[in-house]
Amino acid sequence: MEKKISEMELEITALKIHTKAVHAGDRKKLGSHIPVTTPIYTASAYSYDSMEQLDRIFGQEEEGPCYARYDNPSAAALEEVVCALEGGHGALACGSGMAALHMAVMTALTDRRKSIVSANAIYGATTAMLMNVFEPSGVSVRFADVCDLDSLRAAVADAKPGCILTESISNPLLRVGDIGKIAEIAGAAGAALVVDNTFATPMILRPLELGAHISVHSLTKYLAGHGDVMGGVVVTDEQHYSTLRSLGRTIGPVLGPFECYLTMRGIKTFPLRMERQCANACRVASWLSAHPKVEKVHFTGDPAHPDAATIRRMFPQGMYGAVVSFEIRGAGREEIFRFMDALKLVVRATSLGDVHTMMLYPVMSSHREISPKQRERMGIRDSLVRLSVGIEAPEDVIADLEQALG
Ligand SMILES: *Cc1c(COP(=O)(O)O)cnc(C)c1O
Repeated sequence: MEKKISEMELEITALKIHTKAVHAGDRKKLGSHIPVTTPIYTASAYSYDSMEQLDRIFGQEEEGPCYARYDNPSAAALEEVVCALEGGHGALACGSGMAALHMAVMTALTDRRKSIVSANAIYGATTAMLMNVFEPSGVSVRFADVCDLDSLRAAVADAKPGCILTESISNPLLRVGDIGKIAEIAGAAGAALVVDNTFATPMILRPLELGAHISVHSLTKYLAGHGDVMGGVVVTDEQHYSTLRSLGRTIGPVLGPFECYLTMRGIKTFPLRMERQCANACRVASWLSAHPKVEKVHFTGDPAHPDAATIRRMFPQGMYGAVVSFEIRGAGREEIFRFMDALKLVVRATSLGDVHTMMLYPVMSSHREISPKQRERMGIRDSLVRLSVGIEAPEDVIADLEQALG
């Protein structure tokens, strides 16, 4: 018998990313009607027609929500769309990017050696989590340069990690390691590879397709994209999903239903925003590199980027990410403060990936706790600022930078 339209399952995995962003997760049948977008489910508990059914739900023999720490339809819809974008098996939405990273590393280390090899150029709070949370609880932590595969291999041979942790594009110097090759090293060592894909987003690369086991996002950044939500998400392959889910049920790092809704609303335009932001970043980066007061531009679209060969292999043409870092000739803290105070359109604030262009001074923020000597060794100089390029008209962003540079 021919199926009615409402009974036909849309084959989400066959769709392009722009289509997945607006269709995945939504339109689940509720009784006789189908909400076009997923409602905000505020209920903390769910009842069923019979105790028999409730028993099956509690036993996870039948799918369905029973308690919001385990499962919430607003979160499930968000998890479904992010999972589709990342090409994963399943996802868990969390209250922040850091909560998601914590869940990801815990999942990776379950049944593995309690040892982590982490990229040395990672988000400041991630370094703090490794040093102040994992290490004191008995997990050994070692840092390595993931852009130098020989030194990574040596660190892995030495540390025998259960988990390798890296970011798809590092902050703020925008270095890019080869995820496929890092995944091979992880595989050979029996380690799980966790990739924080916040900066690249699934529009540029999907770590699980390149051999990573777990991908993590701060939803606060590009995926939600409007500067009004805090959230995170873990996406895993089939092997790690049940562990992730059961840790989630026990620990309860859940994202609230309002935030799930806002994030999902943001995701519908994420591919469009990201395309525009990447194009704007290319324009701004090339303008900056021609400015006499700019000493150096760090941008993944630069053909002279230290990881240009890896970027060419992994990134689609013209999509290089939307963060541009640059150094102002001869500038120290005082000159940078003066320059940033002179900005009128570009927002002086932390975070990134929003629709508006934002600028941050890493020495003052993400790398504040690191000694000046260590920062110098990392290549993070007092003259460096980080720009997250938004969706505005690029001419307006450039005009603001021009007047502030003076
Ligand atoms: C912001 C960020 C995080 C942390 O996310 P929160 O949502 O702030 O907890 C982790 N990794 C990267 C790369 C980030 O930019």
